[in-house]
Amino acid sequence: MFTIDDLADRLGGYLPPDEIQQVKRAFYYAEQAHDGQRRRSGEPYVTHPLAVANILANMHMDHQSLMAAMLHDVIEDTGVSKKALGAQFGEPVAELVDGVSKLTQITFEDKAVAQAENFQKMVLAMSRDIRVIIVKLADRLHNMRTLGALRPDKKRRIARETLEIYARIAGRLGINTIRVELEDLSFQAIHPMRSERIKRAVSNARGHRRSAMREVQATLQKSVDDEALSGTVVGRQKHLLSIYRKMRDQRKPFAEIMDVFGFRIITEDVASCYRILGVVHNLYKPVPGRFKDYIAIPKANGYQSLHTTLFGARGMPIEVQIRTREMEAMANNGIAAHWLYKAGQTSHPIAEGSHARARAWVKGLLEMQRHAGDSLEFIEHVKNDLFPDDIYVFTPKGDIMELPQGATVIDFAYSVHTDIGNNCIACRIDRHLAPLSSRLESGQTLEIITAPGARPNVAWLNFVTTAKARSAIRHALKHQQHTEAVILGRRLLNKALAPFNTSLEELDPAVLNRAFEPLDASSEEELLESLGLGTRVAHVVAQRLMDVADGHPGERASEEAGQKSVVISGSEGMVTNFARCCHPLPGDAVVGHLSVGKGLVVHRAECKNLVDRDDPDKVFALEWSAHIDEDFPVALRIEIESRRGLVAELAGLVTDADANIERIGIEERDARLATVNLTLSVKGRVHLARIMKRIRNLPNVGKITRMAN
Ligand code: MN
Repeated sequence: MFTIDDLADRLGGYLPPDEIQQVKRAFYYAEQAHDGQRRRSGEPYVTHPLAVANILANMHMDHQSLMAAMLHDVIEDTGVSKKALGAQFGEPVAELVDGVSKLTQITFEDKAVAQAENFQKMVLAMSRDIRVIIVKLADRLHNMRTLGALRPDKKRRIARETLEIYARIAGRLGINTIRVELEDLSFQAIHPMRSERIKRAVSNARGHRRSAMREVQATLQKSVDDEALSGTVVGRQKHLLSIYRKMRDQRKPFAEIMDVFGFRIITEDVASCYRILGVVHNLYKPVPGRFKDYIAIPKANGYQSLHTTLFGARGMPIEVQIRTREMEAMANNGIAAHWLYKAGQTSHPIAEGSHARARAWVKGLLEMQRHAGDSLEFIEHVKNDLFPDDIYVFTPKGDIMELPQGATVIDFAYSVHTDIGNNCIACRIDRHLAPLSSRLESGQTLEIITAPGARPNVAWLNFVTTAKARSAIRHALKHQQHTEAVILGRRLLNKALAPFNTSLEELDPAVLNRAFEPLDASSEEELLESLGLGTRVAHVVAQRLMDVADGHPGERASEEAGQKSVVISGSEGMVTNFARCCHPLPGDAVVGHLSVGKGLVVHRAECKNLVDRDDPDKVFALEWSAHIDEDFPVALRIEIESRRGLVAELAGLVTDADANIERIGIEERDARLATVNLTLSVKGRVHLARIMKRIRNLPNVGKITRMAN
């Protein structure tokens, strides 16, 4: 069992003997005050304050905080007065204990008003002495570690409060070691099964990757050493809740999240950080857009570090964080790093800065409280600050729009107006063009560019987060599908009417009306839509129309029926799809397959996946329009000598040929030979031929295959 002497030994590492003596005295006082009280686990009560003090000792907190930790439940549970504590241990310690006790009385429930008042109390307690909240966080951490014996519903309530309030405060103050542990313990209490499953999967995955991980670590370490830089490379693990959140929010499978290797490189000074960054970028190619310089621009809670992501061997992403020892201490302990350095008698600018920032934050909260009209308004302010789940962006006119965290440009467009969402084609974020899928950050100014005929894209549903955008897109798509199906249906019916030397436009409207009943349709529109969607067959409808027109049923169309082919341009939209198995391109011989509910699927004539090939109602020849502006995907398989920079080389070549890379993957067959799977978007067969010729001109290229199935 952990004793006060164990703690005193530990404190010997950073506190002078007289201060350790005072901590011990506080312990004995608490032991006596709590005499006879036991924890739910059966242990003497004083083991709890001792454990809380030990958590603070690990963070190198000062002796007054440790004393307050020892005494934190004395006022509340034993009836000793604040005055008595003041006389025994001095005013600052008594104030701290009083502050922590006040926080303990606050429970956060769902009632908005009560919560608002509790927040005010909490902010007030923190504002007197920020150490109050640090002691409170340590107290909560130990309670979470020892939740075990509680009733499940009570466990969940405490866990939820911990997650919603305390973990976030820890995060805001940059005390990440505590935040992470609070989050994982809460997650375990709220979702015991899920957390257990992820925990097991993590330890399995770790076993599998251990050697690969060591290899990358050794390579990184060697390249740092080779440049005579002092830096230590350590592996980094994701915590359970962050894995779970990624799986849930980004809908990523577990394997994909674990596929990322994380490393941290700790070095001496800022200059070395940037030098090491150069070294690792030279070693592995960096992923564009993933480099973040939090040294030059620290996060709100004072966090500083360089972040980058690299393409490792076999395309495995490697995340690297580079920071100094002080920044590392800040990243782990946040505001508490202030005492860490104070104890060592050397004040450190980063830690001082963090303390000043935390003070400024609390002061800001207090000012807000004075200005806010009522407590609900105040709570809104605090929430923005403490709960950055909502983001605030601006319209070009300066109007503020509030959106949930993770919202994208499309969400913004729909929040302004449904029509703006529907007609949105591009966007400027802070005056720079940005993809529609960009996630927004607070403070950005957004300008949506619309085009009158533009329509929503099915793919948008993959990245919108707001319900408004989602339902508006679904609605618009449904409407669009209907319109397009009617247009396609008209073309299919005219094709089927051609052998009778007539067309829908030439047909007597009265004939059409009389045909509805036998065809079981209620209107021309419905009839055409069903043809476009493939639920009715065009030549059957054409035959029926002719029967009605001629008045003598049974007459068949001439043998050369269906000679006229339907022309496609690629811009038909939702009821015309291009088969993913064979990726047809303009210039290829193509056929259409009409399938129920899906409309027309265009295949290459020789595609092996094509079913119903012999059924002329379902499969018929198509022709490409002479005017095509769209890009079409095509998949290539290239055998090539593997070498460094291959991906960049191919990418450059493709871009120079005015095509885009949709996807690129490398299978390394052996050390020498690689197979590259490349998906491009091109204008057509001729364009593709030009690109393939260029690839063939690269050194040591083997076979290039256009994938058919
Ligand atoms: Mn306690």
